[in-house]
Amino acid sequence: MYRPQNLRIPGPTFVPQAVLSASARPLINHRGPEFAALLAGMTRALQDFLRTRGDVFLLTASGSGAMEAAVANTLSSGDKVVVFVNGAFGERFHQILRAYGVDARRVEVPWGRAVDPDVVRDDLARERGKDGSKAVFVTHNETSTGVLNPLKEIAAVVRESGKLLVVDSVSGAGAVDLDVDDWGIDVLVTAAQKAWGAPPGVSMITMSERAWKAFDRSNLPKAYFNLQTYKAQLEKGATPATPAVTVYIALQESLRLMAEEGLDSIVKRHRDLAFATRRGLQALNLAIFADEAFASPTCTAFRMPTRLDSRNLIRVLREEHDTIIAGGQGRLEGQIARVGHMGFVTIQDMLSFFSALELTLRGFNQPVEQGVAISAALRAYAEATQPPARTPVASRR
Ligand code: PMP
Repeated sequence: MYRPQNLRIPGPTFVPQAVLSASARPLINHRGPEFAALLAGMTRALQDFLRTRGDVFLLTASGSGAMEAAVANTLSSGDKVVVFVNGAFGERFHQILRAYGVDARRVEVPWGRAVDPDVVRDDLARERGKDGSKAVFVTHNETSTGVLNPLKEIAAVVRESGKLLVVDSVSGAGAVDLDVDDWGIDVLVTAAQKAWGAPPGVSMITMSERAWKAFDRSNLPKAYFNLQTYKAQLEKGATPATPAVTVYIALQESLRLMAEEGLDSIVKRHRDLAFATRRGLQALNLAIFADEAFASPTCTAFRMPTRLDSRNLIRVLREEHDTIIAGGQGRLEGQIARVGHMGFVTIQDMLSFFSALELTLRGFNQPVEQGVAISAALRAYAEATQPPARTPVASRR
């Protein structure tokens, strides 16, 4: 019997039927007027969501492709840069930089902790007067640990230094507070299959004026990802190569649904759902991996009870409850599990997750009083979303 899965991984996320239906429309000419209108409308919508008047390009590539584009379009071989690494995706930025022959210095931050703006300030201050780094690379929402780095404050520090700021917001943008222009972010990347609730295949990248100046000086090889060709083609309503037309159409529909809800409500919904998720997990004595103050609104990583390997928990959730969550990456494999709550997600989705989790833990002989997590999550959500009733409701007889 077919039962829909409760897909609670931190991307690809649940895609609403309206978005799936949009992706089933007949193909259109990617060099024709319909596509030009679609591209112009989506670019404007993305500028609104990301709060930028600067350039936004849609790439036919996953988020890692956009990360690669960010590197190739701003730097030259041998350039010095700093990468703040507090998880697997900071490591990925570092790997890409190294692959391009960039002299990337890693600043390690313990996994589960946030990148402290004071650490960034001190680090950049130490470079002063020397042949310092040109750019700072940082992950906004570290999906591998469930940590949201304080990007606004980090950006303020980087702006003081005059260096370029390149941000991986693959799993943050579209769900969390973000203002590309006001915060002074030069390049930011995100991807359709995360908070944008569309199928994978398209990523987005912003370019500030400063980033274009860096582009002019940059000598790293760029062909498919040459953003100047994207800019020239965008003016003609097209893309340099054949775009994933179907995914673009789906993403257009997601953006429409998101605009209906409004960015402020979306951001609040993510914050409230993340809060409810943490309270539910804590009611089961499952420790949250991230510091509470920097816990991600889109993805929660939690530790396992002693002697339970997260791979087993994840397997039973999938096999017996059609509930799909993610495990730990790299050095955290087996130790943590990660539940996604980004995109088109509701409290009901999270309560369904908790019902599956409670039953699964009981199956592993964990002392779980059934209903505690559901009830804690629901209470937290109600607290966050509904003001307390002022007067007791009179009984009607
Ligand atoms: N950065 C972050 C923060 C991510 O969460 C991901 C995807 N999990 C990526 C980069 C890579 O994106 P993609 O898998 O779309 O290449």
